[in-house]
Amino acid sequence: MAGTEPFLADGNQELFPCEVCGRRFAADVLERHGPICRKLFNKKHKPFNSLKQRLQGTDILTVRKTTHSQHQPVRKSNWRQQHEDFINAIRSAKQCTLAIKEGQPLPPPPPPSINPDYIQCPYCMRRFNETAATRHINFCKDQSSRKVFDPAQTAAKLASRAQGRAQVSPKKE
Ligand SMILES: [Zn+2]
Ligand SMILES: [Zn+2]
Repeated sequence: MAGTEPFLADGNQELFPCEVCGRRFAADVLERHGPICRKLFNKKHKPFNSLKQRLQGTDILTVRKTTHSQHQPVRKSNWRQQHEDFINAIRSAKQCTLAIKEGQPLPPPPPPSINPDYIQCPYCMRRFNETAATRHINFCKDQSSRKVFDPAQTAAKLASRAQGRAQVSPKKE
């Protein structure tokens, strides 16, 4: 027991205020207290802000991520192909039942292993891969719409119109 210290600490030592908390300490005590007090002060204030920023950051990120993935049309083409296969199956089944009813020879069955990546042209019923199909269907659509304006048909129409005119016309003399 070297009982000198308590006496010094009590009256004779000069006290210094802590920059952070304002409490007064002896020089040697303040030396130890200062860093601790500053750490405590930072703990009270800094983490709150950084937590807020972190939450805001993750909020924005998650929102962006979800909206981004929703815009990817990966499933659509697959759904469409399946839908088309389904329609094709129904169509061929209908053709079969019709042929049986009317006593006609059965239509050729659809290819046994249909490539799911292939798309059937609704105009000529041929199958193409996706890139060829879009080009071909446009072409085939054009062709089938041109058939409506078939030169032979349009010529016949024009002829009948000309006849109609010839019959109606002689009012003007
Ligand atoms: Zn302090
Ligand atoms: Zn076609």
